[in-house]
Amino acid sequence: MKIGVLALQGDFAEHIAMLKHLKVETSEVRLPEHLKDLDGLIIPGGESTTLGKLATDFGMLKPLQQFGQRHAIWGTCAGAIFLSKDVSRKQPLLDLMDIKVARNAFGRQVNSFEADLDVPALKAATGLKKPYHAVFIRAPMIESVNGEAKVLASLPDKRIVAAQQGHLLATAFHPELTDDTRFHEYFLSLAD
Ligand code: GLN
Repeated sequence: MKIGVLALQGDFAEHIAMLKHLKVETSEVRLPEHLKDLDGLIIPGGESTTLGKLATDFGMLKPLQQFGQRHAIWGTCAGAIFLSKDVSRKQPLLDLMDIKVARNAFGRQVNSFEADLDVPALKAATGLKKPYHAVFIRAPMIESVNGEAKVLASLPDKRIVAAQQGHLLATAFHPELTDDTRFHEYFLSLAD
């Protein structure tokens, strides 16, 4: 199995390190031809407007959309925004996941926080019962999950922070900044 990480912007190096730790073959993706032979792709956190602009400039929008029709893609934070269909403002989006996202929903950088999440799908996949400790950095929230998309995790106040639509995964937080590999393992199971 080979998993690419979109390396146009943001914290792609941390995702690569996590995949290497899990002994998964990985590569940095910057151009359409880099998508060849991949079983899945991670779109890292960063800044979704910059990500969208660079993806447009590098001719990546269509190839990424086509890749996502058949292969697993996981967007973390800015990556989740980029995967969605609707962010209530105009910016380049992949339009793949039927979720509506609110950017910077928890406030500014100083309002970044950490929280323990109950994620039933992770429990089922890994058998481990401990909560998932999630890191939110100027995070978006998933306002609504529509069509085939379903909720994977919410905060205690019910705000949705992770969703899945078949082989597409969106998390508002950053699993690559922890040493808990369960979300990466879960994504690998979708790419398999
Ligand atoms: N606030 C950023 C955005 O709107 C996302 C932040 C992140 O990826 N940590 O794109």
